Amino acid sequence: MEKRDELYKGKAKSVYTTDDPNSLIMLFRNDTSAFDGKKREQLARKGMVNNKFNAFIMEKLHAAGVETHFIRLLNDQESLVKRLQMLPLECVVRNLAAGSVCRRLGVQEGLELNPPTFEFFLKNDELGDPMVNDYHIRSFGWAEPDQVEKMKQLTFQVNDVLKQLFLDGGMLLVDYKLEFGLFEGRVVLGDEFTPDGCRLWDRETRKKLDKDRFRQGLGDVVESYEEVGRRLGIQFD
Ligand code: ADP
Ligand code: UDP
Repeated sequence: MEKRDELYKGKAKSVYTTDDPNSLIMLFRNDTSAFDGKKREQLARKGMVNNKFNAFIMEKLHAAGVETHFIRLLNDQESLVKRLQMLPLECVVRNLAAGSVCRRLGVQEGLELNPPTFEFFLKNDELGDPMVNDYHIRSFGWAEPDQVEKMKQLTFQVNDVLKQLFLDGGMLLVDYKLEFGLFEGRVVLGDEFTPDGCRLWDRETRKKLDKDRFRQGLGDVVESYEEVGRRLGIQFD
């Protein structure tokens, strides 16, 4: 697999074209950002940890019947993925209240949401990723109605698989963000699933083990990601 041009450099990952027009190389960098890029830092080992974490989760999801872009790990910080035409939306499922929903609705962190709730956000850093609804998505042409339904269905299917997986490791899956894209017309899971894009709490103590450690300056960010990985049985080196 020959690596060619940098197609896109995001806040935490870079994407490269390859000699296969349908495949991309995704590089997980050590860059870490929060608050729409306003807080940025380099965290040693984070790229490697997230790359291997993501591979493990994508394989679990594939085994559960969720079509993903993940093809294979290439090395410590890079994976080969299918090239998707990304839909400019972030799909969030929340099992417990935390983060923006607490600020927006004035609810207490940790409130159990039964049933879990779903939110769409427009992927647009300049606008601060505003929350949007199905009608906005339709009216502004960001996705077709059947694609909207598929994204919701897949995001909840991921919840069923991962809630149990993390619970088995003694953790609560509080919330997470997924991004989807189109491959041969199908809605396929893209981007990543790592502690950078979800919230995970220890089941007993509710200690935060995810990117909130970075957002809130709690320290031990990558150490906590590795701890989560170890509890799932992921080998990092
Ligand atoms: P951001 O764009 O939010 O700063 P990243 O640093 O994670 O995010 O950059 C990764 C970029 O690659 C994102 O814009 C994401 O939508 C895009 N992407 C993820 N998976 C694929 C894929 N399979 N094909 C094409 N683009 C992808
Ligand atoms: N999230 C993300 N990228 C974003 C926004 C949110 O990965 O650009 C994740 C975040 O880590 C959390 C979930 O989506 O697991 C819900 O985030 P929330 O809306 O609470 O926003 P936050 O307060 O984290 O900015």
